[in-house]
Amino acid sequence: MRVLKFGGSSLASAERFRQVADIIHDKSKSSKLAVVVSAPQGVTNHLVAMTENISDEEKVVADLGHFKRAITTIIDDLSASISNFNNQHCEQALANYEHQISRYMQGAMLLTYCPDHIRARIISTGERLSVAILDAVLQAYSVQVSLLAPEKFLYTNKSSLNAVADLVLSKEKFEHEYTELNQVSLMPGFIGVNADNNDGTPEVTTLGRNGSDYSAAVLAVCAVAECCEIWTDVDGVYNADPRYIKEAKLLDYLSYQEAMELSYFGASVLHPKTIGPIAQYHIPCLIKNTSNPSAPGTLISNENDQQKRVKAISNLDDLTMVNVSGPGMKGMVGMASRVFATMSRENISLVLISQSSSEYCISFCIYSSDSARAKQSLHEEFELELLNGLLEPLALKGELSIVSLVGDGMHHQRGVAAKFFSSLAQARVNVVAIAQDSSERSISVVVEQRKCMDAMKVSHQNFFSHKPTIDVFLVGCGVVGSELIAQISRQQASLKKQNIVLKVYGIANSKGMVFDKEGIDLNNWQDAMANATEALAVNVDNLKGFVRDNHLINPVFVDSTSNETLAMSYVDYLAEGFHIVTPNKKANTDSWEYYQELRSTAQKTNRRFLYETTVGAGLPVIDTLQSLIKAGDELQRFEGVLSGSLSYMFGKLEEGMSLSEATAIAKENGFTEPDPRDDLSGMDVARKLLIMAREAGMQLELSDINIESVLPDDFDASGDVSQFMSNLTKLDGDFAERVASAKLEGKVLRYIGNIVDGNCQVSIESVGINHPLYSIKDGENALAIHSRYYQPLPFVLRGYGAGAAVTAAGVFGDLLRTLAWEQQH
Ligand code: ADP
Ligand code: ASP
Ligand code: MG
Repeated sequence: MRVLKFGGSSLASAERFRQVADIIHDKSKSSKLAVVVSAPQGVTNHLVAMTENISDEEKVVADLGHFKRAITTIIDDLSASISNFNNQHCEQALANYEHQISRYMQGAMLLTYCPDHIRARIISTGERLSVAILDAVLQAYSVQVSLLAPEKFLYTNKSSLNAVADLVLSKEKFEHEYTELNQVSLMPGFIGVNADNNDGTPEVTTLGRNGSDYSAAVLAVCAVAECCEIWTDVDGVYNADPRYIKEAKLLDYLSYQEAMELSYFGASVLHPKTIGPIAQYHIPCLIKNTSNPSAPGTLISNENDQQKRVKAISNLDDLTMVNVSGPGMKGMVGMASRVFATMSRENISLVLISQSSSEYCISFCIYSSDSARAKQSLHEEFELELLNGLLEPLALKGELSIVSLVGDGMHHQRGVAAKFFSSLAQARVNVVAIAQDSSERSISVVVEQRKCMDAMKVSHQNFFSHKPTIDVFLVGCGVVGSELIAQISRQQASLKKQNIVLKVYGIANSKGMVFDKEGIDLNNWQDAMANATEALAVNVDNLKGFVRDNHLINPVFVDSTSNETLAMSYVDYLAEGFHIVTPNKKANTDSWEYYQELRSTAQKTNRRFLYETTVGAGLPVIDTLQSLIKAGDELQRFEGVLSGSLSYMFGKLEEGMSLSEATAIAKENGFTEPDPRDDLSGMDVARKLLIMAREAGMQLELSDINIESVLPDDFDASGDVSQFMSNLTKLDGDFAERVASAKLEGKVLRYIGNIVDGNCQVSIESVGINHPLYSIKDGENALAIHSRYYQPLPFVLRGYGAGAAVTAAGVFGDLLRTLAWEQQH
């Protein structure tokens, strides 16, 4: 004999009823079956709403209408699709129950009160109708069915709405009532009967919302079933709720204890009371999918897969934390017991308890639906203590969730709690309270509900999927930005192999920003950009809102513009939990104060500010310098060709080209800024030099850098670009002379940034063949770092220091560095 339970999701439509009937038909060939059914999905909600709205007749009528429509639709669809379906039998059943409900509701509305035992009868009607309908379907399939009445055996305690079964009595009654079972029997779930009502007549009870699983477990015990099968809408129990965590993995096995913890802490696939009876009587329990019957499902039993690890993570929402504290708590015997006795009297279940070791405070979590009653009853119980100041005013904090890690083998593993808490830190989730069960089978934390999904996502990522994410928002899709998108797109396959999920969720150009919560299609991003509007501007609030709504846990703001205003908003992004990756030099060359603020904000919020490409494009300059300084080295002197465009132009001068020709050809080849004056002014090199100097610990401002512009002071650099370019020829003579006189000495001209004795200077220098920068041209950069460790020969970095490909690759490298942070924590 096997017990099969079909949940509301398995009975949500006519098609589902047929699937259920197919499964029963099929399985009944090899085993006797006792089938427990829930109400069709949503039906119980309408009935519950009705009993809660008795003061509003209009609502009651509407709820009754919803209930009736849901059932009628199923009956009508079944008669349309099954030729010999006895719809009259079902319609009659519906009419009878509707009549009964209407009578109860009229009485309740008259009294303006609906007693719980009447409520229980009303809200369990959906289950009774499921039985009537499934019975008719099975008859049409020629499966003979007998009916089991829970009122005849499933005895419970007095609680009308959240009853607990008396297993021994129920088993005894069942054996007496049903000596021989048919091949298929059918029973409504959710329903029990009260043994000792005041006047001695048994009264219908319900087993709590979602309680049909529990009915199945009790029936399995009573009928000595070899297995209890729970048929639902998922392939089994996953290591996290698959509705929220896309990467959730199916579990083949769970121990009873693991299943108990998981269901208790929110895995709604099983009602928490279900496991008790089947564990006590060692009945294996199988979770199966009605829409995918061939999937093996999850087996819950005494056996475990012996793996010493964390098995799953679950979440429980809509909780309130109650804090009872005050000087009167300390050492006063019986305070805790009075608090808990008050809750028990009110029938309020405590989901989690934590007490501070100072005994000064007792904190516990309850369901938010109980919070008003909890507050009221505690006020009454502790009226005197509150009045005398022995207790502080009761503090209730709502909108909380519990996130729990569960696994039998957890206590064998070191560092589980540490990893859990650092995951929460990574998702920037504050922990309100912590609890661990004494068998170390679960660790639970209380967090704000709005952060619960972030906590779940990041913990699942770190414990199970090991698929770290990089969630990119790119501002600026010019040469570097679009090359970066192309590189990310090309690398997707390789990232996938490394288990890294890198998605671009937002791209902005000067028009505005586009977002896509699935990640923008990088092969067609230009099409997406057609939708960019000013309405979605690039600002912290828009991005923050998107990150919050989509529970992104590793957001990275990539600024590939040279915009100053944007650079000045980095602190706000860091403060909101974004990493910053940028080739834009403006932030690092603003005031020393802002420079410091960026770093302290990044440190405070555990986020990274990465700008490797601000100096030497893709060359590993910043990282190298930082490593040297961290290792105790000191920068003594520095010299470098820091501008790719000027390296190219000065190389051309050496080959005999005039300054204006060299500038024009550099511009044509895309080596200069759109306006070459930005390169020739020396400001770009000065910013790079300042970044280097500050990295080496020098507290300097941009105004402290001495700049010799390529354009002399008295040169008229005004007008538009073409005007400027034609004016430039006026300098050709002078430059030709300077190149020639250097050549006479066997030297060449180079545009060099220097740091000597704490002074920074950018100037045109003539250097001889033995100088490390003599051969640097054609757009190459070279940086010679003279330090305490590197002398007399300097540490030299050399390579292309400009160009979209190398710069984008450097930005890409910084993006991947945001993961190193994840691994550290
Ligand atoms: P039924 O109507 O069959 O009783 P429920 O809706 O009560 O179904 O339970 C099934 C649902 O439980 C699934 O659709 C899933 O969203 C949810 N669920 C929550 N946690 C888990 C988990 N860890 N594994 C599987 N399902 C889960
Ligand atoms: N129909 C009841 C409910 O919705 C019981 C169940 O489905 O298990 O709570
Ligand atoms: Mg359920």
